Amino acid sequence: MGNPIKSKLPPGLYLIATPIGTARDITLRALDILSSADVLVAEDTRSLRKLMEIHGVAPGERPLVAYHDHNGDKVRPRLLAALDAGQSVVYASEAGTPMVADPGFDLTRAAVEAGHALVSAPGPSAVIAALTVAGLPTDQFHFAGFLPNSASRRKTALRALSGVPGTLVFYESPKRVAAMLKDAAEVLGGDRQAVLARELTKKFEEVLRGPLAGLAVQCASRSLKGECVVLIGRGDSPSVSEADIEEKLLQALETLSVRDAADRVSAELGMKRRQVYQLALKLEAGK
Ligand code: SAM
Repeated sequence: MGNPIKSKLPPGLYLIATPIGTARDITLRALDILSSADVLVAEDTRSLRKLMEIHGVAPGERPLVAYHDHNGDKVRPRLLAALDAGQSVVYASEAGTPMVADPGFDLTRAAVEAGHALVSAPGPSAVIAALTVAGLPTDQFHFAGFLPNSASRRKTALRALSGVPGTLVFYESPKRVAAMLKDAAEVLGGDRQAVLARELTKKFEEVLRGPLAGLAVQCASRSLKGECVVLIGRGDSPSVSEADIEEKLLQALETLSVRDAADRVSAELGMKRRQVYQLALKLEAGK
């Protein structure tokens, strides 16, 4: 790997994404920022130190400050003072993208209120990695973070999400994933397509797919370990009329084959492909 560029960074708060498994998923720009920022801040200083060591970036004499949910109020003034003094401050959460079910929000809000620049160095995030491999529609998705731990509050939260017209994405602990899938099948319907994406980018990466009810049974029979993302495809929407489907199909058939038009429209509307394909055949024949 080439040496990261060491040039003085303009002042501001730099939010960098870090790998969710494979260390080499760090971006070159994140390494550049880590090598030249004045102040290093991390949710977990040990993880950041290790990541920097792997990539040959030395903290040197620069401060490496811990910032997490439990000490944010105490540490924030110090970081804001560094920003006020024109320094560049880089923040990394333990893994993935800061603020995506991770700390950083209060810090960014305070920095914005004080008129400082926020700079993103985007990169890994489990929600995007999971959507990429799930094979569920991604034209609309709703990231719901972690559901409550208790079954009754979890079901209430799921009920509130039942009408969302997109793929639902959750972070979940491996201990609770089977119970969560069972509750989701009960509340949202066991036929909805679901995916469990586990240990993404790591040695034991695994992606399980199936209807919610079947996936719940499959997961209940295993003792799952590692980090998990659960995705649930949208249900058939009763509000989609045949006229809506026809209109979308006619548009798609202008440029696509019957097969591709049916694929696209069924994914877009979250409908079973067979029904859409039959309608596409009829429309094509009547042209
Ligand atoms: N900020 C991170 C991001 O951008 O993805 C998420 C942090 S959150 C505290 C940790 C949760 O993310 C885990 O419990 C799991 O649900 C999910 N996660 C993180 N790494 C993962 C991986 N390699 N595979 C699957 N899920 C992962």
